[in-house]
Order: sequence, then C-alpha cells, then structure tokens
Amino acid sequence: MRILTVIGNRPQFVKAAAVSRVLRDVHEELIVHSGQHYDDELSRVFFDELGVPAPYRQLDAGGGSNTAQTARILGLLEEVLAETAPDLVLVYGDTNTTLAGALVAAQAGVAVGHVEAGMRSFDRSMPEELNRVLTDHASDLLLCSTETAMHNLRTEAAAGEAHLVGDVMADVSLAFRPIAEERSTALADHGLGAGSYVLATAHRAGNVDDPVRLERLVGLLEGVPGTTVLPLHPRTAARLEAAGLRGRLEAAPGMRLLAPLGYLDFMKLAMHARAILTDSGGVQKEAYLLGVRCVTLREQTEWVETVQTGWNTLVGLDADAALAALDRPPPAGEQRELYGGGRAAERVRDVLCAYTLRR
Ligand code: UDP
Repeated sequence: MRILTVIGNRPQFVKAAAVSRVLRDVHEELIVHSGQHYDDELSRVFFDELGVPAPYRQLDAGGGSNTAQTARILGLLEEVLAETAPDLVLVYGDTNTTLAGALVAAQAGVAVGHVEAGMRSFDRSMPEELNRVLTDHASDLLLCSTETAMHNLRTEAAAGEAHLVGDVMADVSLAFRPIAEERSTALADHGLGAGSYVLATAHRAGNVDDPVRLERLVGLLEGVPGTTVLPLHPRTAARLEAAGLRGRLEAAPGMRLLAPLGYLDFMKLAMHARAILTDSGGVQKEAYLLGVRCVTLREQTEWVETVQTGWNTLVGLDADAALAALDRPPPAGEQRELYGGGRAAERVRDVLCAYTLRR
C-alpha cells in the first residue's frame, strides 16, 4: 500500500520518526512536509537526529492565521494527492497540517489514518482541540495512545475504526533515552548540574498570544527560585518581543533563555531536571516517561493519566500553585506503564496491514 504521511511541526517529526521506520518495512511511504515549522531548529534537526526519512515534497505553508494556513495547506496538498494517488493518508496529532491532511484525503475518497486520535482537552478555545475533533471525525482509522482516548471516541460515536496502539512519541522517548544520556553534552555545555534546575517550555497560543496572559507567564517564571532553563519557542520569542517583555524575562534571577534545542539535548536536560514546567502536550508525557515531576501551565490536559498518577499538576498561570507544585516530591513507588511500552509504532503498522488486507 502507498501511504502519504503529512507532517509539518516539531512534535509531528518526533512521532513520524517512530512510525516511518517500521512502516517502510511493509509499505511504500511518501512524506509531505507542510512547512508549518520550517526553521532548522524546529525542523531539520529532528530529521537528522531521529532519522526521519527525507520528505518527498516540501510545501511552503508556514505563517499566517490558522485559517489562512489550513487553507494554504489544503490547496497545496490537493495537488500532491492527485500526483501520488496514495491508498491512505496518515496524519498525526492536532495541528493545521493534521486537519488539512485529513480533509483533503477524505474529500478525495482516500482513507485517513489519525495517529494520536481521541485526545481531548474539552477546551474548544484551543485551536488544537478543534483540529483534533474535526480530524477524528474525518478519519477511517483512529489510532489511539490511551484508553481515555478510546473512551472519548466512543462517547462521540466517531465513525472510524478505533484501535488502542499506545503512544508513538513514547516509543521515541524510550528508544532515545540512552542515546541522549550518552551523546548529549547539554548539561556541561550550559554549566548545569543534575537536579539543580527547572526546565521550562511555553508556547501555547492561550498563554503567549494575549499580552496580559503573557505578562502573567513572565511573572510566574520570575518567581521560580534557583536556575530556570527555558529554550524559547519562536512563537513565544516573537510575542515577548512584541509585548516588550523579553528584557524583563532575561533579567529574571536564575533565568537562562536558550534557543530551541534539538531532541537529544532537550531530552538530556529533561531527564536531569529537578522538575519540568511546561504547557506542551508532548513534554508532559515525556516528563512522566523520564520520571521527572511535571507542572503544567494549563487548566486542563489531554494526558489525564499523568495527573491521575500524581506526576503532573495543572496550575494554569497561578504562580503560587506553580511554586507549591514544583516543591512537591514525586510520587513514591513504581510507575504504571501508560503509553504502550515502546511498541506503538509496530501496532500502527499492524493495524494498517490488516486494513489493507480487508480492502
Ligand atoms: N522539544 C525539543 N526541543 C525543545 C523543546 C521541545 O526537542 O527545545 C521536543 C520535546 O522533547 C517533544 C516535542 O519537542 O518531543 C514537543 O513539542 P512541542 O512542545 O513544540 O509541541 P506539543 O507537544 O505541545 O504539541
């Protein structure tokens, strides 16, 4: 079967790294890069480090509003679909690229597989939530990371065929942990001692687009005691500049602003952090897998198991709650395996094979 994989941003490169490797044993795969993230720091480094195969086609759909970007990807992808005539289009996660890939394929009568289907924050003001819901309802194969996701899809009576496969990002995290430990020199490069700093990331539109909320975020980060290492997402860097807040953040005691890190360096800093402070979806999961306490700068999460097990605390932009949560020790005892134990990509491959045989 010929599979057209449509990806375009940092976490999608990580997810595709796991799946492409095993998919290509049995299927022909062509990757289309939408260009949603096009800078080297957010794109090329992931292809290089994680061995994502080079794209068959690179589109130029970065920038603009969500609507304009989705529309641009739709138009460009329609041509690629006509030219490549795939049997199935595979999309990942919850971005404009995800929705555009699913919609183009569904409208052309091509089967759609959605990896990381069924995740819900139940917050429709998040652009990602809209993309997830719409993509799921346009998909034929719903490949779920968690039992919660399966439950969400049953509740919504999604028409596609749902399978619990585990989380493909967890595959990558588990496989690359020893490699990051061995190869990355990030701790020494930045003069950091293990367990001596908080690693922070922030880029959700809901936290950085509104200058009032952005200022609250800066205030929260200023209050974190000790060293805070913050690799700045370009979106956040641009919003800080525009709001005139970058200087204030840079001057915060103990604050270390870095450029976005490659996967191995980020993982090395994550695994040795005292705690992680983030509004990222993927990083909440990775913190759990690395056994590092996570404090999430959001009111709700799709990765509810990380909260239920006591490893993750949701604090929104409440500075006092964040500080209290950062000080709480991680839960005692063995961690439960939540995300498929590193075999999710193989299960995705097997579901796709079975689907082909039935067609
Ligand atoms: N990540 C990275 N370098 C960084 C920050 C994050 O490699 O400086 C990785 C992280 O390990 C995870 C992914 O990027 O695999 C998460 O991406 P992001 O937070 O942009 O997206 P989200 O998961 O929130 O959609």
